[in-house]
Amino acid sequence: MTRSSKASGCLPDGYRCGGAIRPRRGAVFYYLGLGSNLGERGEHIGKALAFLAECGRVLKRSSVYETTPVAMDSAKPFLNMVVALESPLKPLELLVRCKGHEAAQGRDLKSPPYRDRPIDIDILLAGDLVLATPELTVPHPRLCERGFVLVPLFEIAPKLLHPVEKVTVARLLSRLKGSETVRRLD
Ligand code: ADP
Ligand code: MG
Repeated sequence: MTRSSKASGCLPDGYRCGGAIRPRRGAVFYYLGLGSNLGERGEHIGKALAFLAECGRVLKRSSVYETTPVAMDSAKPFLNMVVALESPLKPLELLVRCKGHEAAQGRDLKSPPYRDRPIDIDILLAGDLVLATPELTVPHPRLCERGFVLVPLFEIAPKLLHPVEKVTVARLLSRLKGSETVRRLD
């Protein structure tokens, strides 16, 4: 049976049903990790989603998960989720905009990392790009060791290949050690 046109009707313009999803010419296919553990967490996540919709097209979004803080001296649980975004913005442009949004949501960008935060937006992957600069490293350097990222990423992209590790997200998740709590909420 050929794949039905009914099914492909659900896909954005330019996508082939069944094939690997590829961004349109000039666009980048990003995976972004969102996190909030301060204030109205759900509201911050919702505002971040609205902001990302202005940066491109949100093609997929995971469920929201409640997670315990990792590598942080905090007892405040996070809400985390992962989003697939097709965007014409270059990676650094997107990062600058994300930081602008984080600041607008009340995050003090001058505070040291690993502090409680109303919203954090991390670029997990930018297509197949591999880049390591102080401002931006992709794939995100801690992607492979974070259950709060890998679990939602697995939900929306289990077969996605990590461009450095050369294994799928499913494999990365199976390799994960540790006992983080990652609880799906919706
Ligand atoms: P974390 O998200 O690890 O808690 P921050 O959000 O405070 O840390 O980010 C610290 C710095 O990491 C930022 O100044 C940003 O420029 C840099 N950075 C490097 N790579 C990335 C990436 N892939 N996504 C987001 N920020 C990144
Ligand atoms: Mg961050």
